[in-house]
Amino acid sequence: MGYVELNVLNNPAPSAAAGPLALGIDLGTTNSLAAAWRDGRPVVLRPEGRSGLVPSVIHFGEGGPPLVGREARDHAVVDPRNTLFSVKRFMGRGLADVAQELATLPYTATENERGVVQLEARGRRYTPEELSALILRKVHEVASSALGAAAPTKCVITVPAYFDDTQRQATRDAARIAGLEVLRIVNEPTAASLAYGLDQRDKGHVAVFDLGGGTFDVTILSIEDGVFRVLSTHGDTHLGGDDFDQRLAELARVALAAEHGDELVRDPAFQQAARQAAEHCKVELSTQPEAELHLMVPHKRIAWRRRVARDEFERLTADLVERTLAACRRALSDAQLQPTEIDEVVLVGGGTRMPVVRRRVAEFFGRIPHTELNPDEVVALGAAVQAHILTGGRRDMLLLDVTPLSLGIETMGGAVSKIIQRNSTIPCEATEGFTTYADDQTAIDFHVVQGERELARDCRTLGRFKLRGLPPMPAGMARVAVRFHIDADGVLSVSAKEQSTGVSAHIDVAPMHGLTDAEVEGMLQAGYAHAQDDFAARRAADLRTEIGTMIQATEKNLNAGRAGLDKESILDLEDALARAKVAAAGSDVAALQRARDEFERAALPLAALLMNNVAQKALMGKSLGEVG
Ligand code: ADP
Ligand code: MG
Repeated sequence: MGYVELNVLNNPAPSAAAGPLALGIDLGTTNSLAAAWRDGRPVVLRPEGRSGLVPSVIHFGEGGPPLVGREARDHAVVDPRNTLFSVKRFMGRGLADVAQELATLPYTATENERGVVQLEARGRRYTPEELSALILRKVHEVASSALGAAAPTKCVITVPAYFDDTQRQATRDAARIAGLEVLRIVNEPTAASLAYGLDQRDKGHVAVFDLGGGTFDVTILSIEDGVFRVLSTHGDTHLGGDDFDQRLAELARVALAAEHGDELVRDPAFQQAARQAAEHCKVELSTQPEAELHLMVPHKRIAWRRRVARDEFERLTADLVERTLAACRRALSDAQLQPTEIDEVVLVGGGTRMPVVRRRVAEFFGRIPHTELNPDEVVALGAAVQAHILTGGRRDMLLLDVTPLSLGIETMGGAVSKIIQRNSTIPCEATEGFTTYADDQTAIDFHVVQGERELARDCRTLGRFKLRGLPPMPAGMARVAVRFHIDADGVLSVSAKEQSTGVSAHIDVAPMHGLTDAEVEGMLQAGYAHAQDDFAARRAADLRTEIGTMIQATEKNLNAGRAGLDKESILDLEDALARAKVAAAGSDVAALQRARDEFERAALPLAALLMNNVAQKALMGKSLGEVG
């Protein structure tokens, strides 16, 4: 497996075989999780096949112990009143502090004689500490099942930089109730910076931008000789991923209120279902240009769907992103710094997976933010680094797993479309859209390759699979999303799904194994050595494909268009068509380019005439070959 060195030094953990001595725990408003130091680096503790993320949600059923995590979150739809979430907002607060929060939440709260908030579910009252303890216990349980043995009870727990002493104390108390021993409470932005090894800088300024489920904060830290100091922190405790969900949910509310009346949209079960559908759609839009908002309320016999494009979503939520940037401006001004004085920007929180957030933050600070580690895991990873150091370990080097070679698929003409670039940190995923090359193509052949060369025949084949059962459609109409996913163990899975029909196919390959370091080195060298030739060969392949598509589209539509075109245009086009056919047989890039440009120009009158979506589409676009 390939590694990239983030920082100096290395030294294996003193007792790697004995398992970690302490956990790092991110106790979040929306999600919580544990990480630990293993084999010389921090890793998230995830039981096989699961993410390790525990939704910070508790459901009190009719009997038996309360459910915590994913199962509890699912109950939010059917039993919202007895499903408690966002408990972190109440930690160490009095009722007066949280009146505003309560107004927006479906459950009730009271205050006990000592002024501690208590939340009510199924006729019983619970303090936020007790509830957080239930979450911590669940996190510990998940960690134990990941480790295959009882997880350590010593831990480092993170809190927001703005938490005051009472809130920090409440967090410690929650841990005590859960049977855990807190070695240290660490600020979330500090933990995130530790995960990236930024403590190894002798001097510098770090901005940590954290967009969670219901809260946003940005913190400016200074580092000096490995010590972090909070210079300023700003944010909004009512701005997070949930607000982005709400904008999508609003689309459903408006449409369904018109159809079924206001009563429906006030139904708590409807609201929960809309929220979940919206979140699902939002998450898909982080990797796909378009996704479906799909809502079901079984007891009302409602199933509703609507497609949402990423552009539309970004327009609907632009003001939310702007609010995060306004907070960045204030945090900088409080720290008396200019954006250019920030040396590192770290993205934290699931909300920063949204491409628009990454883009805007990069623009704001004028530098590419750190995203090599999963933003919703980076705080727990940093807590694990701290836990390791506090239990006597030395962190001498931070290693990140990366893919040693690029991964992609073969497109028409034998070119490779790289989907995951080499040196991407794993786990990772990426999705790209493709379409069909020929009319009525009912199957597509996928050839998954690894390597830096531009043509598939020069790369290593990892596997092949077929997507069958496409309904006959004109070329360019099928919309196939190809998703590459590499899990933490380096296993690659590739899936292809045609969006309009839902037809899909899938293959698993293990790209990391089976190649020796020397082979990887050899393939990289070959990539560099042939870069020039490859580039030309690939360009030629792409141009030939493009011309081929244009020839097909023209031949198909020319007769229909004859009547509407003047003679000169027809002759011009026929001439360009003939010359394109000759050029397409060769491999001279310049000649191909000329033929393509010429052909494109000559085809314009026909294209304009047809104004036909299908033909227009066929005249551009990336295509996949037909199965022989
Ligand atoms: P918290 O710190 O509040 O506990 P997280 O950092 O786990 O929360 O972030 C949770 C938020 O991140 C949720 O709103 C969730 O919808 C959002 N989120 C998670 N994955 C993605 C994604 N791929 N794209 C967009 N938002 C995401
Ligand atoms: Mg968080």
